Amino acid sequence: MNNFSEKIISWYEINGRKNLPWQKKDPYKVWISEIMLQQTQVTTVIPYFNKFISEYPTIKTLASTSLDEVLSMWSGLGYYTRARNIHKTAKILKKDFDCKLPNEIEALMSLPGIGFSTAGAILSLGFEQSGVILDGNVKRVLLRISGNKSPMNKYKTEKSLKEFANILLPDSKHKEYSQGLMDLGAIICKPNNPNCSKCPVDEDCAANQKEIQDEIPTKIAKKEKIEKKIDWLLIKTKNKVLLKRNKEKGIWQNLWVLPEKDFFSTKKISKILPVEEDFSSFEHHLSHKKLLISVKVLTIKNKDRLSIDRRIFNWVNISDSVNMGIPKPVKDILKKYD
Ligand code: SF4
Repeated sequence: MNNFSEKIISWYEINGRKNLPWQKKDPYKVWISEIMLQQTQVTTVIPYFNKFISEYPTIKTLASTSLDEVLSMWSGLGYYTRARNIHKTAKILKKDFDCKLPNEIEALMSLPGIGFSTAGAILSLGFEQSGVILDGNVKRVLLRISGNKSPMNKYKTEKSLKEFANILLPDSKHKEYSQGLMDLGAIICKPNNPNCSKCPVDEDCAANQKEIQDEIPTKIAKKEKIEKKIDWLLIKTKNKVLLKRNKEKGIWQNLWVLPEKDFFSTKKISKILPVEEDFSSFEHHLSHKKLLISVKVLTIKNKDRLSIDRRIFNWVNISDSVNMGIPKPVKDILKKYD
């Protein structure tokens, strides 16, 4: 074992996080947690993870469930492609891998939604084998250790980080090392004001020696988000709302949303004689888009006056909607008008 990894492991054994619900020698739990943790904070993930695992305790149960149910379980976590990929992968694991995750990097990376870092996490944390994790925390630590000022989100930087991370890998205690590096990034080597005086690898760290910690990592400036206007109609009766199944392309594929304002003709809408009207608007941010959402709320007495296509529309009890795959802004609107 090299000196660097020894220091990380010793530090982890005293200071690392050991009580997270997915910290078991269980590749399935590691896989689900790693996917949930992409783009989402640990504290947000914990209740979702616990609920998901209690509902689908094995790959077999997950593979036997419908995509709708998985999407509903994912409701509120965002980035729904992750849930769709989990479902696809579970089906492949059932069909081709006897309901088990493989313990080889190429086989793992051939599965939908599993990239280099997730495969490394499954190998090192789930199978306790050698594997490289390169999540945001680990990338930042390694860039500072090597004093590398290349932009973090560039392909070339990623490639050199993979090579560097491979060189540093220990011969044993793979789980403790990987978890230690992640925890070091989360607890000590934070994006701002890293606590170098408490760092177990301060003497190995080029950024610390040169006092350039705050200059690393550098990032390529992100493109401005594209703005998209959405005008929704919330048509509700005393306890039901009209929801529409989204298309299979674009954002929120297959999820339940509100119908767009121009979906019904003025003539059709005039037939439903709203007893109350309201209006609200707000912004919702996706990774690449800024949504400017307006909602016209129409409370009606007789929902049967509105003819709807039952293949894409559904009158739903607001209390039942919690069990459906619904994106966060729609969930918030339903909560507001419940
Ligand atoms: S010495 Fe400071 S900058 Fe370097 S890895 Fe440790 S905490 Fe990060």
